[in-house]
Amino acid sequence: MRRLIVSDIHGNLEALEAVARDARGLYDEVACCGDIVDYGASPREAIAWIRAAGAMVVRGNHDRAAWEPGLRESFTPAARTAAEWCAQVLSAQDLEWLRGLPAGPIWGDEFGLAHGSPEDEDTYLESTADVRGIDLLLQRRLCFFGHTHVQGGWEWQPGGIRRISGPSAGEPERVVELDPDALYLINPGSVGQPRDRDPRAAYAIWDSTQRLLAYRRVPYDIEFAQRRIVAAGLPRSLAQRLAVGR
Ligand code: ZN
Repeated sequence: MRRLIVSDIHGNLEALEAVARDARGLYDEVACCGDIVDYGASPREAIAWIRAAGAMVVRGNHDRAAWEPGLRESFTPAARTAAEWCAQVLSAQDLEWLRGLPAGPIWGDEFGLAHGSPEDEDTYLESTADVRGIDLLLQRRLCFFGHTHVQGGWEWQPGGIRRISGPSAGEPERVVELDPDALYLINPGSVGQPRDRDPRAAYAIWDSTQRLLAYRRVPYDIEFAQRRIVAAGLPRSLAQRLAVGR
């Protein structure tokens, strides 16, 4: 089985369409680690794409903020403005669908899905210190997560933990051969708002039969996505950060 793994789309339709074009023919199913909406100008289109793909999805904190206003209190001013805008433009059906998304982690036959940590959906896994002990919580050998918007992950071997990175700037992909005896936490990176200093849209293709994981990056029309964010009346900082990937 080949799966397209996406996370943190954040209403960026231009990035999502570039990912879909780039991944065409490479996958049979889709899985999403949450944060489909907020920040970008196309939350409705992002939801429609994920629903049409029949994706396995966990909710992100921004998916939750669309229907749980209290959660926005902890957001930065720009994120709060974006969440309020998003809640206005989503339809009642969109909001109902977001409300029905499960909290992570959820476990499929072959893998798990989480938004933040498998221990807590809102916790950021950023450093190797953050993931110590998390291997004990993994009910499958592989769990995907998002939330940090940083492509990469960790591999547990009997000897210890190893950090895995995505492709360097300029490389379209980095393929990792998965060890059947190891454990993995894998972040496909953010489709719609990368924060690892690489502005290209990030995603992953996982082939469970071949045991291959490909971290991939694809350029997209950032300027168009920026113009649409500004035209929607969203904070300009949300447009500017797309160009630098931070
Ligand atoms: Zn996010």
